[in-house]
Amino acid sequence: MNAIEPAGPTCWICACGGASLKRRGVNAESLKPDDFRITDAGYGMTGDIYQCNHCGFLFCPGMGDVLGMYQQMNDPEYEATREERALQAHKLLASVSKFKSAGALLDVGAGSGIMVQAALARGYSAVGVEPSKQLVEQARAHDIPVLPGTLDDQQFPSRFDVVALVDVIEHVEQPLHLLRQAAANLAPDGVCVVISPDVDSLCARLLGKRWWHYRIAHISYFNRKTLTHAVQEAGLEVVAVSRPGWYFPASYLFSRVMQYLPAFMRVRPPRFLDRFTVPLNLFDSLMLVCRHHGEQPRV
Ligand SMILES: [Zn+2]
Repeated sequence: MNAIEPAGPTCWICACGGASLKRRGVNAESLKPDDFRITDAGYGMTGDIYQCNHCGFLFCPGMGDVLGMYQQMNDPEYEATREERALQAHKLLASVSKFKSAGALLDVGAGSGIMVQAALARGYSAVGVEPSKQLVEQARAHDIPVLPGTLDDQQFPSRFDVVALVDVIEHVEQPLHLLRQAAANLAPDGVCVVISPDVDSLCARLLGKRWWHYRIAHISYFNRKTLTHAVQEAGLEVVAVSRPGWYFPASYLFSRVMQYLPAFMRVRPPRFLDRFTVPLNLFDSLMLVCRHHGEQPRV
């Protein structure tokens, strides 16, 4: 190796140019768009995970055309859990409303528009952006404004009072660029809400490599330190930290728990479980509420 060549891939957050292989993963060339489903249950399956020697950030470089995978992905099971995801969205927005209870909301990685729909119902003017063509079509079928593509494809006429990045930053190859784009679209007194799994949570440590957030679609693994570092690098500062919970159909949770058993022990969920919704908080996700740092940028 050349003496001036950096050791390993360049960190996506601090760009220090030194990262070490932490865990060998699957061959990225074998991946297909449906491996990137939101509801994917291949827990423990990841790309090669590298750790930055400088800031400790964990990431999976070399995963190929991740954005292209999302554009082509089909995820019918996601729509099947729409009701529970709507409960989740309302709970999140109740938290957000303590910081910003009205105005324009942008949901980045909006899926089929569940949060946008909830925000509209709560009186925000809201729009989403989503790369998956199938999910954008589903949003349109519900008459919810979700624009195709990424933030790079948009030119909004004005900035937003709330920019939401709910379980999206761990899916993108340029998390810092995404945060900077979010900051650029955030009004001077707006709030940016960032939610991502916490790789240092107790749950993650207990489950080890079988933690449910270790999956192909997750190519960044943040903890409180690295997520805070990333938002600060994007010119934002953290004003509140919490651990959001989720709502799931009982049958969905049942089948997910089955993934932790050997194949011969797995059974299908009983039908009656379809009728129940379970609030679940494993305290293994982080929610950061952020504002522009220091001097307010001009609009
Ligand atoms: Zn780093």
